[in-house]
Amino acid sequence: MLYTNLFGKENVSKLCYGTLSLSILQNHDSLENKVNLLNYAYEKGINFFDTAELYDNYDILNEFIKDKDRDKLTIATKSYAYDRKTAEYSVNKALKELNTDYIDVFMLHEQENGNNFLGHYEAVERFMKYKEQGIIRHFGISTHRVQAVRDSIKFKEIEFIFPLFNMDGIGIQDGTIDEMIYAVKKAKEYNKFIMAMKIYGGGHLINRAKEAFAFVGGIKEIDSIAVGMSTIEEIDANICYLENNELNINIKNKIRNQKRTLVVEEWCVGCGKCAKKCRQNALRIIDGKCVVDMDKCVLCSYCAGECTDFYIKIV
Ligand code: SF4
Ligand code: SF4
Repeated sequence: MLYTNLFGKENVSKLCYGTLSLSILQNHDSLENKVNLLNYAYEKGINFFDTAELYDNYDILNEFIKDKDRDKLTIATKSYAYDRKTAEYSVNKALKELNTDYIDVFMLHEQENGNNFLGHYEAVERFMKYKEQGIIRHFGISTHRVQAVRDSIKFKEIEFIFPLFNMDGIGIQDGTIDEMIYAVKKAKEYNKFIMAMKIYGGGHLINRAKEAFAFVGGIKEIDSIAVGMSTIEEIDANICYLENNELNINIKNKIRNQKRTLVVEEWCVGCGKCAKKCRQNALRIIDGKCVVDMDKCVLCSYCAGECTDFYIKIV
C-alpha cells in the first residue's frame, strides 16, 4: 500500500475507501457483508474511509471501527450544513453514529463556488469552533465543479478539497479535465490536500480502469484517491492499480463478469437530454424522471456525459 501524509498524520493510505458504494443508495447487501469488505480492505492496508451524512451508512463504519485503534484510521465525512444549527446537527450525528470522539476531515458537500461557500459561512464558523476543540481535525469541501476548486484558494478555512477528477472529465459540471487539472495545481500551491473522486466517471470508465487509475495517479498534486468498491475483487484491483502492478487474470475476469446496472439518481429533473442521446432507446422520461430499460441498455455510457449534474451512474 502507498501512504500519504494528511497535514502531519502519517501513513494514511493513498487509496481511500469511498463508502457510497456501501450505502443503501447503491448497495442492498447485508451489514455483515459490507463490514467484511471494509475489514478486508483494512487488512490490505486501506485505513482511509470517506462517507457522508447523505449516504446514511455511519452504522456500517461504526461496526467496522469497533475493534480498531481509532487513531490508526482516517475518516472523512460531509454534509450540506448551511448554518450553525445544521453544522451542529451534522457533527453530533457523525460523532454519535460513528461512535468516535473526532472526525479527521469534515467537508461541505457539493460546493459550487466561492459565493455558494459564503452562503454556508455560518456553518463554516461553527466547524472552525469544532476544529479549535479538536473535534474536527481538518475542514474542506467536496465538489463537481472547477470553480469551487479555483475559489477554494480564497478561503484559508478550506484545507482539504475533494474534486471530481477523471481522465474524460465525466461529471465535471462547468469545465474540462484540463481546466480541473489547472485548478488543482493552483490549489496545491496553497497547500490544500487534494483527494480525487469518481476516477472511473461513475462506472463509465471501468473498462479502461487501469488507464483511468494511472491518469489520476500520475498527477503529482493529487494526494489521495477515493474509490467506491463493492467486491473483494474491486479492492484487489484498485490496490493493484495504485501499486502499478499487473492485475491477476482471474480478478480481471471476475470484475468483467460482474453484473452492472445503470442507475439514475432520484434528483433527476427529467430534462430529457440523456434520453435524446441514447441510440438504444433505453431511456424515457416518465412522470418527470428519467427511467432506464435495462433490457435495452448496453451500458455504453453515452448518456452520462449529457447529464451535467452527474445523475447517471453505472454501479
Ligand atoms: S440528463 Fe440528467 S437530469 Fe436530465 S433527464 Fe437525464 S438524468 Fe435526468
Ligand atoms: S448507457 Fe448507453 S444504452 Fe444505456 S441508457 Fe445510456 S446511452 Fe443508452
